[in-house]
Amino acid sequence: MIIAHKIALKLNVQQRIYCARSAGTARFAWNWALNEWKQSYEAGEKVSEAGLRKRLNAIKREQFPWMLDVTKVAPQQAIKNLGTAFTRFFTGKSKYPQPKRKGQHDSFRADNGPGTFKVTGRRLKLPVVGTLKLREELRFTGKPMSVTISREADRWFASIAVEVEHTPPTSENQAVCGVDLGISRLATISDGTFYQATHALRREIRKLRRGSRRLSRKQKGSKNRAKAKHRLAKLHARIVHVRRDSLHKLTTDLTRRFSTVVIEDLNVKGMMANRKLARAVADVGMYEFRRQLSYKAEMRGIRVVVADRFFPSSQLCSTVGCEGRAAGLGLAVRSWTCSHCNTTHDRDLNAAKNLERYSTVSSTGINACGAGSSVAPGQPGRRSLALKQESYIVINDYI
Ligand SMILES: [Zn+2]
Repeated sequence: MIIAHKIALKLNVQQRIYCARSAGTARFAWNWALNEWKQSYEAGEKVSEAGLRKRLNAIKREQFPWMLDVTKVAPQQAIKNLGTAFTRFFTGKSKYPQPKRKGQHDSFRADNGPGTFKVTGRRLKLPVVGTLKLREELRFTGKPMSVTISREADRWFASIAVEVEHTPPTSENQAVCGVDLGISRLATISDGTFYQATHALRREIRKLRRGSRRLSRKQKGSKNRAKAKHRLAKLHARIVHVRRDSLHKLTTDLTRRFSTVVIEDLNVKGMMANRKLARAVADVGMYEFRRQLSYKAEMRGIRVVVADRFFPSSQLCSTVGCEGRAAGLGLAVRSWTCSHCNTTHDRDLNAAKNLERYSTVSSTGINACGAGSSVAPGQPGRRSLALKQESYIVINDYI
């Protein structure tokens, strides 16, 4: 299994310039190859990414000599990535590849293959640029395979892919839990425990609200607007990081404590939320939560079940044997009393309990690392979380 650990970099001025230049070269190569691809295609020629790489190599010394200042892998990998993007397009998996613009997902491949770079402690030694300082040590031991350097707002990260030996352990405990994800209360677990969002996150969200109001008042095309936009992008990146950190603690904990974790489908909360901002933040969390949960589940050999998106986890009464249901429960309602059994429910805990029961109604879940979905007779839509086929996992880090 290949695991990538993304670690923040501490760069000096020259190194930042080098990274920006390499990312620029990669972007140029992508755009150049995309253009060549289009022209060749229109001329009725057959094109391949390998052919385009050769074509670029033949002309770069003369036409783009500045390309030689950075690692040769940066432009090569960019064209390989374009090839992958075209394959995805031709198989209907994604849209037609688009030109890349500066500042959007700036990144480049920085190594020449396994054995051409070295990680020692907090140091990453790469071809051409030399040694870069890492904010933390690599968490995995195994064969280092590749390094991709990328930018988020104004920070640079190295994503180091490592091949590790992996045999999923068989989980000893049989505990099942349901998880209800929120914003101010990060998660409520069906066993009655919950995880609060950190103070830092609440503060950043308040700042984001203020920032986006300010941005909307700035004149279009003005310098002040560009500045406000940049500030907002930084804040956004920070919120994603802070939230990701809390989610790491949560998903590690869950996959250690339980053998089956039941979660809601994506966007259920999102569709209900009426505030655009709350929705954006919740969505980011939901995707990230699911991503972390699925790879940790695979590593620890536990099962993740995703409830059908129409499963009314908030509205059903979770008292065993009671068929009560709260109709038209607004988002603001934090607790309610069942008219059948008179139990007063905390909204989120009730939802979590219903999710837990969702898995026990039928035992047809499959392991999170299994492919496809399993549907029990008479239970349309119940399925386990099917992980993407590539067992390529990205573990993000930040400081
Ligand atoms: Zn009830």
